[in-house]
Amino acid sequence: MVSNVFKNFECPNCHKPTIGFWRRQIIGPTAPFECPNCGAEVIMNWSGYWPIIPFMALWAISEFVESSALYWGLNIAGLIIWFWLTNQFVPLVVKSPPPTTKTTG
Ligand SMILES: [Zn+2]
Repeated sequence: MVSNVFKNFECPNCHKPTIGFWRRQIIGPTAPFECPNCGAEVIMNWSGYWPIIPFMALWAISEFVESSALYWGLNIAGLIIWFWLTNQFVPLVVKSPPPTTKTTG
């Protein structure tokens, strides 16, 4: 059984699930992913960084707790929320369309 959590993400250009879960996490405005299927460059916009807000809030709270277990718990929870929100709600966009379609694969 393949876990549904770590499923691949669709390329916004060709809609094929070519983007691996962990590869998705490091796509950024200046770190494009080149789709192996269609050759499009896929990025995330700067506006896609809003999920960092709950992470920052939990991190700020964690600075005031005395228990180190709670400190790490808050930070890890913030990180998981950040990842989850990004994967659920932040769209990937096509930065540059693929080069002219090749006739051979
Ligand atoms: Zn593609």
